[in-house]
Amino acid sequence: PPGSEALRARAEIDLDAVRANVRALRARAPRAELMAVVKSGGYGHGAVPCARAAREAGASWLGTATPQEALELRAAGDTGRLMSWLWTPGGPWQEAIEADIDVSASALWALEEIVAAARRSCRTARVHLKADTGLGRGGCQPADWPDLVAAARAAEAGGAVRVAGVWSHFACADEPGHPANAAQLDAFRDALKIAERAGLDPEVRHHANSAATLTLPESHFDLVRPGVSVYGLSPSPEVGVAAELGLRPAMTLSASLALVKQVPAGHGVSYGHDYRTAGATALGLVPLGYADGVPRHASGTAPVLAAGKWRTVAGRVAMDQFVVDLGGDAAAAGDEVVLFGPGDRGEPTAEDWARAAGTISYEIVTRISARVSRIHT
Ligand code: PLP
Repeated sequence: PPGSEALRARAEIDLDAVRANVRALRARAPRAELMAVVKSGGYGHGAVPCARAAREAGASWLGTATPQEALELRAAGDTGRLMSWLWTPGGPWQEAIEADIDVSASALWALEEIVAAARRSCRTARVHLKADTGLGRGGCQPADWPDLVAAARAAEAGGAVRVAGVWSHFACADEPGHPANAAQLDAFRDALKIAERAGLDPEVRHHANSAATLTLPESHFDLVRPGVSVYGLSPSPEVGVAAELGLRPAMTLSASLALVKQVPAGHGVSYGHDYRTAGATALGLVPLGYADGVPRHASGTAPVLAAGKWRTVAGRVAMDQFVVDLGGDAAAAGDEVVLFGPGDRGEPTAEDWARAAGTISYEIVTRISARVSRIHT
């Protein structure tokens, strides 16, 4: 519509691609259920529409980091199994339990808060106990695991909780064959044995992210939790190229050139004049900058498709705009410039941007800010 921000720049999200990716991932883990991870606004793709598409393709679970993200999905009408794992003391346990959201506990304090909230709402909370099998981030250390399991068993006997899951997360699954992967699975099996010996009977045991879903079948257990691959991106070059993995990148980020102008040879471009024109040329102004999530580290390195060719970002990315050198090629204000997409129209991919900016494709798509219109097709 006139006046729409989408005239400036847009992130088009192909929901058919999301559906096809979920189906491809399910085929990789045919005996497991699939939890589509839709945290951080569906990795920048829009949590609600992507969640809906993932459900349509057979994701029986959704996963979020924060409870607020899970509550937003409930507010948007999602009624399926939904888990949230990143909690801090005093978090909205009761709201989550009343909204039928599965919660996670890595420590006794969390279990105690869950039990208290469940009692207040006269409900049984569904809890997933998280073991640290080697990531060294969230999760309960092996030394403390028996105590957490015993407390959960007691809370279950008292009716306040049902231990619905036992779970963990990989550190190095994006490097297939890394010795930490097998070591984590051994530690997970040990944690499961301790839980089972204590009388717990979890519905779902889960450990696999995208990389493990794609490369490590013994990690699938009852449920896999892919995130980045739902959006069609490979977790790492070592895991493979998206197309070869049967994945299709869902996001295309593009803009309309805001200005095209002729400049002479030797003209400095953007702050600091890091780039100077080699000859008389046309500069194109791309109305996207680091406030939109275009990484400033991509200055002078990242590619875009403009006037039929790849051009490198000329000079520094500014807050709202950057420049490309169009050479002698014909272009006009309003012409489309594509930063990244699936790659089949000759455009760069998020992986190309990640390489250029010294980061991972996860960060490229997740940081596209709210100022950029999302258009779901
Ligand atoms: N599970 C948990 C606990 C996560 O934090 C994440 C995201 O980092 C995922 C699953 C999905 O990981 P990926 O996007 O690599 O598939």
